Amino acid sequence: MRKVILTGDRPTGRLHIGHYVGSLRRRVELQNAGEFDDIFIMIADAQALTDNADNPEKVRENVIEVALDYLSVGLDPSKSNLFVQSAISELTELTFYYMNLVTLARLERNPTVKSEIQMRKFENSIPVGFLTYPISQASDITVFKATHVPVGEDQEPMIEQTREIVRKFNSTYGEVLVEPKIMLSENKACLRLPGTDGKAKMSKSLNNCIYLSDTSEEVRKKVMSMFTDPNHIQISDPGQVEGNTVFTYLDAFIKEDSFEKYLPEYKNLDELKDHYRRGGLGDVKIKKFLFAVLEDELNPIRERRHQYEQDIEGVYKILEQGTNNARKVAEKTLAEVKDAMKINYFDDKELIKAQAEKYKNQ
Ligand code: ATP
Ligand code: MG
Repeated sequence: MRKVILTGDRPTGRLHIGHYVGSLRRRVELQNAGEFDDIFIMIADAQALTDNADNPEKVRENVIEVALDYLSVGLDPSKSNLFVQSAISELTELTFYYMNLVTLARLERNPTVKSEIQMRKFENSIPVGFLTYPISQASDITVFKATHVPVGEDQEPMIEQTREIVRKFNSTYGEVLVEPKIMLSENKACLRLPGTDGKAKMSKSLNNCIYLSDTSEEVRKKVMSMFTDPNHIQISDPGQVEGNTVFTYLDAFIKEDSFEKYLPEYKNLDELKDHYRRGGLGDVKIKKFLFAVLEDELNPIRERRHQYEQDIEGVYKILEQGTNNARKVAEKTLAEVKDAMKINYFDDKELIKAQAEKYKNQ
């Protein structure tokens, strides 16, 4: 069976280091491993409009920001199709058919959507488009017959919803669609990276992000004012590592050579954690170390972004090309879907003949 990746991001802001460890870094590794037949990376502007209907300008501006972030982390347009969701009308069409396979009660049970509704204070005025975005996500995934979806943990309910739609569709209309598998990071710290304020999730909407495009100075300031252990006041105090955001980020970003390069008096993260727990290790020292580790990762990303920023026309061309490639695949799947659902009246010669016979014999 063909191995296909589909994943994407909402253009509601620039991408941050939570996106990076939760999904982007993995995508680049998978892309470069060369084990996949096709890779589709989607800028989900139509989905972003489901809770930004009154602010299309914000979505529009961020399409190019997300594209720049993609290219800067190493997504390569000759290996991955980078495309824009709204330019593929097959996706909306497919969503309309899938809506008949999902109940309202099922949508209302989605825990990620539930918490997003609370966060956005929609209360009793939830846009229908927002509540149904998991169905549109099922279209995004299935139209490319994606087998693998590398995403953060918050996307688990969406993949489950997609698998249910696939099963329902295939058992009702015939085997057309493919059930996708979620690909979560094996590193626990990367599943849902917390914000710099220690809040549950780093999120564009919560203003607690370190962006991939932040300058060194911005990153330094954010790291130095990060949430640690509120009870670790004196350097000599014993400190807590669990729930300490600096250590969570170190868990997510540390590399084999990080200690040798930036903190050679420790062998590894376990030693550093033990010292912090015992007391005698100050927050400034661990923050400076984290800053160095982050900069190591972010510097090449910034450099590549800077290069692409000099050729914005070229970046739009990359998106246009990726979108054209993606559209071809979407057209093919939609035709198969309509065949299976028997809503292909004009192509179905048998149907026309049978109807004609019926009336002739009357
Ligand atoms: P928004 O607030 O607009 O929803 P977001 O920051 O949640 O933005 P999305 O575009 O919804 O970002 O998510 C894109 C991808 O990044 C998804 O795969 C999601 O699981 C992953 N992701 C987002 N935030 C994090 C995080 N803090 N840690 C790990 N993965 C994340
Ligand atoms: Mg989100």
